[in-house]
Amino acid sequence: RFILGIDTSCDDTGVGLVECLPGGGVAVRANRVWSQTVHAQYGGVMPELASREHVERIDSVVGEALKEAGLSLRDLGAVAATSGPGLVGALLVGLMYGKGLAQALGVPFYAAHHLEGHIYAAASEEALEPPYLALVVSGGHTHLFDVAREGEYQLIGATKDDAAGEAFDKVARLAGLGYPGGPAISEAALRGDPDAVPFKEPLRGQTGYDFSFSGLKTAALLASRAGAKPDDLAASFQRAAVHTLVKTTVRAAEALGRTTVVVSGGVAANRALRRAFGATGLRVVFPGQGLNTDNGAMIALAGAAAIRAGRAPSPLGVGAQAYAPLAG
Ligand code: ATP
Ligand code: FE
Repeated sequence: RFILGIDTSCDDTGVGLVECLPGGGVAVRANRVWSQTVHAQYGGVMPELASREHVERIDSVVGEALKEAGLSLRDLGAVAATSGPGLVGALLVGLMYGKGLAQALGVPFYAAHHLEGHIYAAASEEALEPPYLALVVSGGHTHLFDVAREGEYQLIGATKDDAAGEAFDKVARLAGLGYPGGPAISEAALRGDPDAVPFKEPLRGQTGYDFSFSGLKTAALLASRAGAKPDDLAASFQRAAVHTLVKTTVRAAEALGRTTVVVSGGVAANRALRRAFGATGLRVVFPGQGLNTDNGAMIALAGAAAIRAGRAPSPLGVGAQAYAPLAG
């Protein structure tokens, strides 16, 4: 009935617990994330340090999650862990821990795809019934999938350069707004004028469903050099980024006849993005609080979906993969 989920794909040690309810629904019972701070001094994630921190922390984060849910290890019915994509050394920690735990408890183990986890984070709010479109907007991905059937992902669009979250981070840095950039931009945008800095719509007139953020980033750099105020830059950039994400997704939904869209990944925490999607008339599902950025609960939710779909548990020989496309 209870599924433990582990994500150690990058620099967050995430452990979550999900309960499978009698009616077929799911409920998140715990979600603990230890965010590593050692990387700040290097200005980027150091893979070797990330792995070591995961090793040191994972056991206590599992303990905290169990405590939060008021459960013990004996209550677990299955264990899920991310096998990729991500930093291999970091992934291995959670994957090996998860497999070992499942083996010791005699329960099934499910290897989960990180992006499938991001998508299933939205299952905390509503049951995800295909067909639907899934837009993953995170620090490393801006991927638009068409999900015709449970577990079948067709990639219909992706960024040609930077990921959406990466663009928020870079624009925040050049505007001197700090890190992580997403929350900093959305906060500064509240005080800024979205009409102050003109941005051209990326890939305007395209017939496909791709994204591009490097043009917005360059325009932001030039505007910053020309003396644009950080708050105005934030408000204008955020509006341009939100506009291209929403417009392209809506166009895809109309073309494919999809009426439900799942929007997930760190950027899905953005209020302006949520508001804009809310005004489209589509049924839009976002992850619940604390489930947008990397976490373990989303992996437990992906595991719960695999179980419900009748998928076989993963062989214990399953390895970590740095590169693992969810679909072609
Ligand atoms: P991936 O899953 O692609 O490997 P990741 O897991 O590192 O990437 P997430 O943790 O899902 O990425 O998201 C982190 C990103 O989300 C960062 O780039 C951050 O700036 C962005 N982000 C977080 N909150 C907000 C927000 N409120 N508005 C916009 N962006 C945000
Ligand atoms: Fe992620």
